Amino acid sequence: MTAFLNTLQDCLRLDEQDPLRSLRDLFDLPDGLIYLDGNSLGALPRAAPARLAQAITQEWGQGLIRSWNSAGWFDMPRRVGDKIARLIGARAGEVLAVDSTSVNLYKVLSAALQIARHDAPERKIVLSERSNFPTDLYIAQSLCQQHAMELRLVESGQLQQALGDDVAVLLLTHVNYRTGAMHDMAALGAAAQRFGVLTLWDLAHSAGAVELDLHAAQADFAVGCGYKYLNGGPGAPAFLWVHPKHTERFWQPLSGWWGHAQPFAFEPGYQPAAGIGRYQCGTQPMLSLIALDVGVDTVLAAQPLGGMAALRRKSLALTRLLGQLIEQRLAGHGLSLVSPSQDGQRGSQVSLTRSHGAYAIVQALIERGVVGDFRAGDGAAHPDILRFGVCPLYTRYVDIWYAVDRLHEVMASGAWQEAKYGQQQSVT
Ligand SMILES: *Cc1c(COP(=O)(O)O)cnc(C)c1O
Repeated sequence: MTAFLNTLQDCLRLDEQDPLRSLRDLFDLPDGLIYLDGNSLGALPRAAPARLAQAITQEWGQGLIRSWNSAGWFDMPRRVGDKIARLIGARAGEVLAVDSTSVNLYKVLSAALQIARHDAPERKIVLSERSNFPTDLYIAQSLCQQHAMELRLVESGQLQQALGDDVAVLLLTHVNYRTGAMHDMAALGAAAQRFGVLTLWDLAHSAGAVELDLHAAQADFAVGCGYKYLNGGPGAPAFLWVHPKHTERFWQPLSGWWGHAQPFAFEPGYQPAAGIGRYQCGTQPMLSLIALDVGVDTVLAAQPLGGMAALRRKSLALTRLLGQLIEQRLAGHGLSLVSPSQDGQRGSQVSLTRSHGAYAIVQALIERGVVGDFRAGDGAAHPDILRFGVCPLYTRYVDIWYAVDRLHEVMASGAWQEAKYGQQQSVT
């Protein structure tokens, strides 16, 4: 028992002593709601409504077309990209905030395949894992068709063995969206490097949640999401990173005018811009980019308090506490932890599974003010999942305590078995 001293009083004390506790004030969260879904849609930054209102009434309303220059709209993808670079171990001028994660993946994977075809045409395999997020696999399937290559999917434990001199690109999501399991990016990067394999990382569940160093991990390409831990709002632009040694080797396939060397020369022929700018396609949604800028600022607000290292420490403490409280208070209710218990192997979420009822349990919890989510499984290897994301910027230790308390209530009372919660498998 001494390993677990997690009472409500302990949690209150941990919040009082939390060096990051002031960061919660940067967000507008509904009263009484425990929000454990920031890994799917980050919370609303308090500064966003006023900043957007100003962008709409002043920059758009008054500035009109002049705002492309006077309000700095043109440079927004680079400016926000430079801020994101500080969170992922990239340098200024290497990152763009543009388009969606899926579209960015298409652009950078296409560039990776062109490089591989040029440098090592005998390599025909894009290697990924079966449990990768579906859009990543779907985009890879399309590009493999175009390039006459094969998408090879293995279980995550088999990735190292599957690397070889027939592999062109290793395409992985750093933190698994279902389980929260985190790859050792440096180890896989080094292994890929030994085999001459290019690495492409999807940072959708990492950026803003865990420490990242793309250069140290010898990565080649990366993409990531703006609306999860970067708090950019629904459908926020995503980001992409290309190692500078690759940036200018080929055109990316969506060679629109924003990626042109001189978009306002209006020439009939495409000339790619120097540097990362060529990874732009067309006009970007400025209001969404402005919201993303505010969201990224909430993460950068942690810099004077220890930055991503401090956020990661708190995130681990929160997910560790969540796992411990579940073991402590929910034994015998058929729930098991799916996320790795080892800190170094876990992202910023805790996933549970249960042989049945996972969907109803999540619904019953939401009705009691604890928002997590449900992800349907597809058999024993990938069971139904109850997900609880932890955003260290605004999640408190007491939130974890109350979330488990309500989960205990739902299970102990049998409330989840009420017909109204249904058993359907739909994802909300
Ligand atoms: C959330 C997520 C995406 C989202 O892609 P969109 O293009 O924004 O819909 C992509 N990949 C992973 C791994 C994700 O977790």
